[in-house]
Amino acid sequence: MTGESSPLHSIEAYRRGYEEEHRLRGFRCSCGFLTATWGLRCPTCGGIEFTEVELATTGRLAAFTVQTVPSDEFLNDAPYAYVLVDLDGGGRVAGWMPGIRAETDLVLGQRVRYAPGYRPGVQFAVEPTEAAAPPTP
Ligand SMILES: [Zn+2]
Repeated sequence: MTGESSPLHSIEAYRRGYEEEHRLRGFRCSCGFLTATWGLRCPTCGGIEFTEVELATTGRLAAFTVQTVPSDEFLNDAPYAYVLVDLDGGGRVAGWMPGIRAETDLVLGQRVRYAPGYRPGVQFAVEPTEAAAPPTP
């Protein structure tokens, strides 16, 4: 640690945020740039003054690819989708979605939600739509 950044602005705090606290931490630069990705400097202005913000847990698929060759960590989950999600309110986060076996299982722009579990990484799931929800009595 250099002591230049706040204790909250550490990669360890960021990782702990989603793996243990099940939160998506984001950072807003003094220039207004909002990112879901931990970094030492703002990619737009080069600033180092960040404020931690709570990111939305829902968003839309910006990109995805189906992984059939996993790392050891995801050996029992392949195939799965590696996804980029544009969160509602700002911030683009990388994550993954289990149970996706083919590119036709997802659609760009599809609604997804953060679905933390016991598995590593930032895990997303398809957000249930009104049509798919069970009927109300
Ligand atoms: Zn900035």
